[in-house]
Amino acid sequence: MSRLPAFPIPVKADPAPAEEALARHAEPQVAVAGIEDIVLVASGKGGVGKSTVTVNLACALARAGKRVGILDADLYGPSITRMMGTDRALPVDDEGRTLPVENHGVWTVSVGNVLPPEAALVWKGPLVTQALTQMFHDIAWPELDILLVDLPPGTGDVPLTILEQIPVSGALLVTTPQKLSIVDAARGIALFHDLDIPVFGLVENMSSYICPCCGEAQALFPDGVAAALARRKSVKFLGGIPLDPEGQLFADGGTPLVVSRPQGAVAQHFVAVAAEVVSAVERERAFRARDSDEQLRAEHEAFWENLLGD
Ligand code: ADP
Repeated sequence: MSRLPAFPIPVKADPAPAEEALARHAEPQVAVAGIEDIVLVASGKGGVGKSTVTVNLACALARAGKRVGILDADLYGPSITRMMGTDRALPVDDEGRTLPVENHGVWTVSVGNVLPPEAALVWKGPLVTQALTQMFHDIAWPELDILLVDLPPGTGDVPLTILEQIPVSGALLVTTPQKLSIVDAARGIALFHDLDIPVFGLVENMSSYICPCCGEAQALFPDGVAAALARRKSVKFLGGIPLDPEGQLFADGGTPLVVSRPQGAVAQHFVAVAAEVVSAVERERAFRARDSDEQLRAEHEAFWENLLGD
């Protein structure tokens, strides 16, 4: 059988053959060592601000005292290194283990750490699986409360591979207010619902424009489209993030708005979204604890049987 090229993270001197990595993935989901909860950040379309939400959310969580990481699974258009100011090679410890890069109190790993920015990013199916495996399991992540995964847009290979192989606590959907973006966000919600992955909420990015002269927020598109979708799909609407031209500048400079302008209106929106994510993750942890305790699970099932039997 031919040997596939290895994902170029210098994890091992002699990387395992791809067949071995794939065989590992044929097995049931494997938890990532040291990481309590994995939360996916998804969008139907590219350019709606998914990575912007990921980095600001991560920084807001870190500022709230959480141990946070970002895994940039947008293999085709990685932007986390630029937005987090982590555009350097992944460090290797004394034991030869590859570590994530830390900045703003957040640990990050991205294809951007191992490939030059202008490299052509062409990934065939098995290589996608292998790259993701290495990013989750062959990186020596520190103990983390939450690992945010910045997915590529859409419902292709990458999200499906992750959902098959990694235990995920929930997902956030990011959209802009335009109808086209909303339609694709609906597809994303449907995917997670079909696979029984809790959707923690829908974030509407660029919902309004903050005028640099007067500071007033002006709606860019008719209000309520994303909120209506959230209602229709029984998903929590996590509010609108204004378009802030400064956000673009800070993102390009490697310092998310939550760090560079923590008191600003946009940063406060992200802090509110972070609080929602923390509540959702805690709720899921409580469900997990209940499900792993036989007596609690039996009591819960009896409660529903009684209720439905009435
Ligand atoms: P995606 O990850 O969905 O492709 P990005 O997060 O990379 O989208 O955002 C696309 C571009 O829009 C980036 O240049 C980013 O800095 C900018 N951007 C995203 N959200 C905002 C916002 N709320 N205010 C200002 N610029 C934004």
